[in-house]
Amino acid sequence: MPIEKEKLLSVEPARIHEHEHLVLEGSDISGHWNRMFEQRVLWDYTPDLLGKITALEGGESLGWCYQCGKCVGVCPVDVVGDYGPRKIFRKVQSGTDLFTSDDLWLCTTCMNCLRVCPKEVDMVKIMPAVREQAMLEGNVPAELQDAFEKTAKYGNPLGEPARKRADWTRDAGVEVPIVAKTGKPVDLLWWVECYPAYHPRGKEAARALARTLVALGVDFGIIGIEEKCVADSQRLAGEKGLFESLAEENIKTLRNYQFRRLMVTDPHAYNAFRNEYPRYGGSYEVVHYTQLLAPLMSKIEWKKELRYKVTFHDPCYLGRHNGEYEAPRAILKAIPGLELVEMFRCRQNGYCCGGGGGGMWLDGFNTQHLRERLSERRVREAVEVGAEVLAVCCPFEVSRFEDAVKSTGNEGKLLVRDIVELMDEARRAA
Ligand code: SF4
Ligand code: SF4
Repeated sequence: MPIEKEKLLSVEPARIHEHEHLVLEGSDISGHWNRMFEQRVLWDYTPDLLGKITALEGGESLGWCYQCGKCVGVCPVDVVGDYGPRKIFRKVQSGTDLFTSDDLWLCTTCMNCLRVCPKEVDMVKIMPAVREQAMLEGNVPAELQDAFEKTAKYGNPLGEPARKRADWTRDAGVEVPIVAKTGKPVDLLWWVECYPAYHPRGKEAARALARTLVALGVDFGIIGIEEKCVADSQRLAGEKGLFESLAEENIKTLRNYQFRRLMVTDPHAYNAFRNEYPRYGGSYEVVHYTQLLAPLMSKIEWKKELRYKVTFHDPCYLGRHNGEYEAPRAILKAIPGLELVEMFRCRQNGYCCGGGGGGMWLDGFNTQHLRERLSERRVREAVEVGAEVLAVCCPFEVSRFEDAVKSTGNEGKLLVRDIVELMDEARRAA
């Protein structure tokens, strides 16, 4: 229940004046709800609902929120809706049960709120913890449940057969070594992940990366049909059990092969291998493909100038979550002819494509709650800076942004390209 207006107005006027100078002096910068000299009417709140969240492992920090509001301005979901940790806290405090609320599924775990929060309220831990419980009670959007079931059954959220996982290599135009067949140790074991292995646009970028690795003489191999989804996004969407079983299986698979470094195409896989798998016994030297390629740019023989004005979208799980902002930009700056322009929201304050934390599988659900998709908002921002190409380096993003280019009427104005596709284009003869 919200506080009744009369109760807010019941403070004696003289005492308000007494307090006002503290506000002007800067001794108190709190909102009007704190300018009360009487106790808050706590019986109008529902502390049990907040307590249910803070009692969960990972949910504790929601209780630390002191309503400063810094988080709302940077929350990508609030830009296209009505959201942010401060609003979630207030809703829970005044009667919303987050475990059954649709709000539970809108957070993309992008981490921008945590970046600015003085109290370290951590939605990247709170949301998965609450979602896990909500799932156990059967409260999960149908399209997300479908992705979970496909991941459990087929080892990938697209529901594709495991035997087809390496089929993309056939049209790469170069030989892609599969370590199970060659039986040789490699310097770089490439963890391809699901969208580059199965999605039509992901496969194109995977082929471009394979050609680039071969051209650079990199000693690499892929795992092929034994590889399964790393399931980090499923974990963040609440399916911790599925994540754990796949982590154990993938770590067991990796034990069969000899390699020095693990290279990933997907920032979510990067996050999982770097920050989550070590807890389950899998510790590796992990590189994102942009980190591998950036120092090798001087070795590339370019054949063509690309006369594009390009802007770059920072993936949340490469940038904010893992601190890599430079490698993708170094590649784009090295490609001859490209002009790089930045969008207003970039680097630490980069906008989210909407695909993180399970959002990849919640587009239908989200359209019922948001004015537009986050990917659509981002495409408009790219068009606003005059970009002809929106460059990405996360396999979720090519298809998300290409859909958004169509739905915002920007077809013919803006191309979406993986960074390695741009490299491949400039490296090959016209
Ligand atoms: S920034 Fe942190 S403390 Fe401030 S309102 Fe947001 S969650 Fe609460
Ligand atoms: S993690 Fe991102 S989407 Fe979720 S509440 Fe924070 S800023 Fe908003």
